[in-house]
Amino acid sequence: MPIRPITSLKLAGKRVLVRCDFNVPIHDGRIADPTRIEATLETIRYVLKEGGSAVMCSHLGRPKERTPEFSLKPVAERLSAELGIKVPLAPDCIGDVTGRMVSALKPGEALLLENLRFHAEEEANNRDFAHELARGKDVYVNDAFGAAHRAHASTAGVAQFFSERAAGFLMMREIEALSSVVNDPPRPAVAILGGAKVSDKIGVIRHLLPKLDRFLIGGAMAYTFLKARGTPVGRSRVEEDKLGLANELLEAAKKQGVDFVLPVDHVVAEALDKPETATVVSEIPAGMMGLDIGPRTADDFIARLAGAKTVVWNGPLGVFENEAFAKGTLKVGEALAGLSGVKSVIGGGDTAAAVAHQPWSRGFTHISTGGGATLEYLEGRELPGVKALDY
Ligand code: AMP
Repeated sequence: MPIRPITSLKLAGKRVLVRCDFNVPIHDGRIADPTRIEATLETIRYVLKEGGSAVMCSHLGRPKERTPEFSLKPVAERLSAELGIKVPLAPDCIGDVTGRMVSALKPGEALLLENLRFHAEEEANNRDFAHELARGKDVYVNDAFGAAHRAHASTAGVAQFFSERAAGFLMMREIEALSSVVNDPPRPAVAILGGAKVSDKIGVIRHLLPKLDRFLIGGAMAYTFLKARGTPVGRSRVEEDKLGLANELLEAAKKQGVDFVLPVDHVVAEALDKPETATVVSEIPAGMMGLDIGPRTADDFIARLAGAKTVVWNGPLGVFENEAFAKGTLKVGEALAGLSGVKSVIGGGDTAAAVAHQPWSRGFTHISTGGGATLEYLEGRELPGVKALDY
């Protein structure tokens, strides 16, 4: 898709509306994970260095009403510290007071608008609201990949009011990394898929099946496939209504000569909250549930990654939030990060959460900042936030 990068815009003297994804976890007024803020600093710094002024906007959470816990104030403070300039927080994202703050901006200055979702019109992609948001700004840059699957006013509707619009550095990086997986990836190409539900990943499997050579399946979704194949899964999490579909996918993989690999052993326990009962088995006993891939499966997955030129990973291979069931995800993650000559793209969301803070995570080519947006991209769907940048 022909979208323009920010570097194609003349920014000197311009007021630049930058849609950022500052939807970060905030506990008691403190930012618990600043990854998404850090990921967009390159774009903001570029705007300021080129002599533009940055008017940043973002959503935060799902506010029902305007309450302090959904204010972007902690983000404004963090941006001030990171950029080394005062980044004031406007009292709203539209309106006269905010409009005056925008008009007063000089080249090299920055302003953060208050949470877009304090207006229901944002999610409704309301045209008048989008027009208001555009007012007083000269160019539009979208760097919010994590929100690009939403057709909201700030990600979609607003773009039509700018003759100059482009993708920020983060947006460009995300699209380049993900498109290199989806469009003609260097082979052998492997997908590692895990997570809670097959139903969430059906679109990804369907879209990638003809494009990749091998699928390594872990997480709870593996049990729906195993049960469909007639393997005992005990009390593991299974989507009963997806057994037929799981069989169809297994058949399709076979027909297309794709290596579709399921776990051969498991870390099981009596229940999620009984990690003290955890043990490794090859066959899951009736009363137990599979909560992680076993060590032989991890070794098997790692062996099947050798020589890969492209690897895309979406979804943890076990209940990584609990140390007792995190080993499979971490072992495969560390091995992948250590491989050379491979483009490794880690789909955002839970997979990123599971591996991002490990010292070896720097070994991945790209860790996506998107959750839903990454999945939709891998399903081959057009993202409204990307499409809106089109000319
Ligand atoms: P997803 O959002 O689909 O990527 O799913 C991530 C969630 O799947 C995480 O919260 C994991 O705890 C969960 N998960 C992974 N493996 C299993 C499993 N074997 N049983 C139950 N939940 C799992």
